[in-house]
Amino acid sequence: MDFKSYIRDVPDFPKPGILFKDITPLLQEPKALKMAADALVEGLTDKGIDKVVGMESRGFLFGPLLAERLGAGFVPIRKPGKLPYKTLNESYDLEYGTDTLEIHVDGIEEGDKVLIHDDVLATGGTAFATTKLVENLGGIIVQCNFLIELSFLNGRERIHSFEVKSLITY
Ligand code: 5GP
Repeated sequence: MDFKSYIRDVPDFPKPGILFKDITPLLQEPKALKMAADALVEGLTDKGIDKVVGMESRGFLFGPLLAERLGAGFVPIRKPGKLPYKTLNESYDLEYGTDTLEIHVDGIEEGDKVLIHDDVLATGGTAFATTKLVENLGGIIVQCNFLIELSFLNGRERIHSFEVKSLITY
């Protein structure tokens, strides 16, 4: 399937100068939604994945679909102050300033096999911070996967020590 035909470019969103990749056309098309989820778990069904970890907020769209297909649980990664229970935090650098992500301390158990998923890999800051959170809780990262990779931003280099897969590359 030509997944790219379901991704819409939105200029100047959320800020002037940014060309935003909008995945909602893919989400609203039943066949594309199913085929994308199937493709994202390809090669992973026999890997014994225990948890799928998805990042706020668009990692929550496919994350549970992938978890269900893999017979795994889903664990959300959120911005500070959103998760109700005890959390572990990780800060990471942005172009200007820093940001922080959180995970529930009981989200991952020692030795859990983990698939990390987000909609877009851009600079890799979000994914890198997520790998730290998962590893600090004793998780073993099997793959980081993304619907879209913006390869010109070199995010893959930031998470080079892990297996990285993306369905669509720009
Ligand atoms: P990074 O930390 O890799 O620079 O940015 C990745 C995060 O930003 C992801 O959580 C992703 O949802 C969001 N993001 C960055 N650019 C885009 C974009 O063009 N489209 C969408 N849908 N999300 C983006």
